[in-house]
Amino acid sequence: MLNSNTRFSGTADFSRTSSLSVLALAAMALLLPPQVVATEAPRPELLQQAAEIHRNIIALDNHLDIPFDYGAGELDAAVDGPSQFDLPKAREGLVKAGVIAIFVPQGPRTVAGTQDARRKATQKYEILTAIERRHPDLAAVVRSPAELERVAAAGKFAIVLSILNGNVLGSDVDQLDAWYDKGVRLFGFTHGGNNDLADSSRPNLLRGDKLGEHGGLSALGKQLVTRLNDLGIVIDVSQISPDALAQVLSLTRAPVVASHSNARAIIDHPRNLSDEQLQSIQRNGGVVAVNAYSSWVRPLPPEAKRKANEIRRKHGVPEEANVAASQPLTEAGVKLLSPEQFKAYNDEIHEVTGDPAYRATLAEYVDQIDYVVKRIGIDHVGISSDFNHGGGVIGWNNEGESLNLTAELLRRGYSRADIAKLWGGNFLRVWKAAQAKAKPRPRA
Ligand SMILES: [Zn+2]
Repeated sequence: MLNSNTRFSGTADFSRTSSLSVLALAAMALLLPPQVVATEAPRPELLQQAAEIHRNIIALDNHLDIPFDYGAGELDAAVDGPSQFDLPKAREGLVKAGVIAIFVPQGPRTVAGTQDARRKATQKYEILTAIERRHPDLAAVVRSPAELERVAAAGKFAIVLSILNGNVLGSDVDQLDAWYDKGVRLFGFTHGGNNDLADSSRPNLLRGDKLGEHGGLSALGKQLVTRLNDLGIVIDVSQISPDALAQVLSLTRAPVVASHSNARAIIDHPRNLSDEQLQSIQRNGGVVAVNAYSSWVRPLPPEAKRKANEIRRKHGVPEEANVAASQPLTEAGVKLLSPEQFKAYNDEIHEVTGDPAYRATLAEYVDQIDYVVKRIGIDHVGISSDFNHGGGVIGWNNEGESLNLTAELLRRGYSRADIAKLWGGNFLRVWKAAQAKAKPRPRA
């Protein structure tokens, strides 16, 4: 869910903290005034109960990433290494499945740009499918809810492939069928920056995007909704503009997923979902998987906004009230930055948004879950980490710490059935519904 392609080399990507971190924080809390450290270690009996629940449900992380150098050495999936996700950590956290993004950042909308996006998507696809080839006893790429359930029951980690950023299609909708054949079962139209399919909720004005370029979805994007429905691919509405979301919901005949989106009532930014938008996804029968990406979970303090605006002034970029955005959303006074300038600007902004001093806690993340559940009900909410892409909060730093999250849900009174829905049950319902609405393809 990252703000740009430059962030991956940043500091928070592999912010692995051991499972002891919560205990360490609790110890620190004894030494510090309570307002400084508010995170408590989960009670052992709740962790035990959480583990018992996870053994009997399919816990699924609705959105996470892998880096481009994943798959060898200490980044081999079977090694408990610096990645926030690997198979030993999934086992430790009793997470049985994950929707992993074939994520490609938005680049130039040129023939060369599209070729580059395709090459990167193919590279990620190869890395993800190699997990199964190298470790067939530990993990498998799954193509249907039934297959996911079988794989999880066999004790293997189930990988659901999702495309994040339709730029990999360029303007060739037929490419979607090829990705379906390769196993892709979720599709998100945009990331940060508009493309040929849709407007992003974070148009990249600093690189020349026009605000409201397509007025939501392009004609091609609208066509794609039908094709996605026909194939039974779940539409992922995270990241697209409010107009694009409304159009997807009016066109789709299947429920959708917002794989990593948060409440706009808490952080007022178009990247997040307003109460009305949350309700529109509820009416569609869909799911909003609340994202554990710190700067979308917890509003940054005035001091951080000041620092970010200093950086904006330095680069001649208009000031922005919402520091979670790396790109301004107003057209007034925006100057186009060269790729080098943009990278420097973006890196500096992310040093502020990724500052460990401003990191959200697990309790604040669960506050967002509570908020969305109150608005649209337990049947429409899910969980996503955004690990390896800047995601993770204090107390849920990697897949291995997932029982901390469930313990916190238990502490707040969520039942076993509620937890099963949040941790993947709702997603599986939507996936099954999307499959039921698919049309068998004519044989070529
Ligand atoms: Zn992500």
